[in-house]
Amino acid sequence: MIPIAIPSISKLEIEYVTKAVESGWVSSIGEYIQEFESEYAKFCGTEYALVTSSGTTALHLALEAYGIGRGDEVILPDLTFIATANAITYTGAKPIFVDVDEDNFCISPDSVQRAINSNTKAIIPVHLYGHPANMNELNKIALDHGIRVIEDAAEAHGAKAFGKSVGSLGDCGIFSFYGNKIITTGEGGAITTSDPEFYSRAVELRDHAMCKDKRYWHNMIGFNYRMTNMQAALGVAQLKRINEILHKKREIFSTYSKNLGSVNGVRLNKCAPWAENIYWMICLSIDGYTYAKRDKLMRSLYKEGIDTRPFFYPVSSMSMYSKTYGTNISDKVSNEGINLPSYYDITSDQIEYICNTLKKILSADNE
Ligand SMILES: *Cc1c(COP(=O)(O)O)cnc(C)c1O
Repeated sequence: MIPIAIPSISKLEIEYVTKAVESGWVSSIGEYIQEFESEYAKFCGTEYALVTSSGTTALHLALEAYGIGRGDEVILPDLTFIATANAITYTGAKPIFVDVDEDNFCISPDSVQRAINSNTKAIIPVHLYGHPANMNELNKIALDHGIRVIEDAAEAHGAKAFGKSVGSLGDCGIFSFYGNKIITTGEGGAITTSDPEFYSRAVELRDHAMCKDKRYWHNMIGFNYRMTNMQAALGVAQLKRINEILHKKREIFSTYSKNLGSVNGVRLNKCAPWAENIYWMICLSIDGYTYAKRDKLMRSLYKEGIDTRPFFYPVSSMSMYSKTYGTNISDKVSNEGINLPSYYDITSDQIEYICNTLKKILSADNE
């Protein structure tokens, strides 16, 4: 079976994690935490990074640190992983789902504009599958209305928009280091920002809102959203290899492009002229497909030893949530798409096998 994603763990990761365990600093104090935070901030081009127990807790922490809660509205794309919406809900605020642009799968600035009202406190653009959202237009809208922009960059480490790295484009950015993301710490996340006040507030809330100069005294209800030094050790090693990993992602995409580029009725990830896509996932869209056809194709590929994933379902279609606006493009993109295998160690032969198998199945379908 060719899996969809597996992390790339080299000797370096094993060496650093071993050192962390041997040092006895296994919880959330330790050298690797500091190193990971300062190196990750450098990587994103921000003043600060603070690491957390997951991408989801990074999102929740950022929203809490901005004081967002009951009575507030936060705008997000309907096409995303559920965590983006759940983090908003944890605060008591209301998630407002708007549509995406068909070309890059990211939140449509026009639909954001239409959804803003006096309760809107923030926009969370998601850089979906490694392609950045149009941050220039979103920042303009946010500035006009005095609202925050929190980038959900969980799937886009190293992607760029208008020449700048994601995580440095909004008021803050959040990242995930889950096992299938560009780099991993097992479970883990980060917030990046250049705003010192927001940074201190997030640091405080991450650790039970413990007073800096009075131990076991708390003026607010905080959280335990800390990362461990063992996880950070894994992260430091992964971060040393991130350019190599990103390079491999581009190669994988170009091999898929060569093999599938001329097939009628199918599309792969696109890239806007102002963007650098990092191709976290290979996204295959098939014109006019429905959930039923998509699932049948995935079953056929599985029988041939190829694992795939469906695109995310629009979050507003799930029972806990509901639509405020029509999000037809999100529905369409979701129906038409699957992710193909793209892990670090995949070979060109394996990619060719996947593409040939896919072409065979699709042409048999059209007969
Ligand atoms: C993975 C992911 C998250 C959540 O990250 P976890 O580390 O799994 O909590 C949030 N948003 C998006 C878009 C993601 O893909």
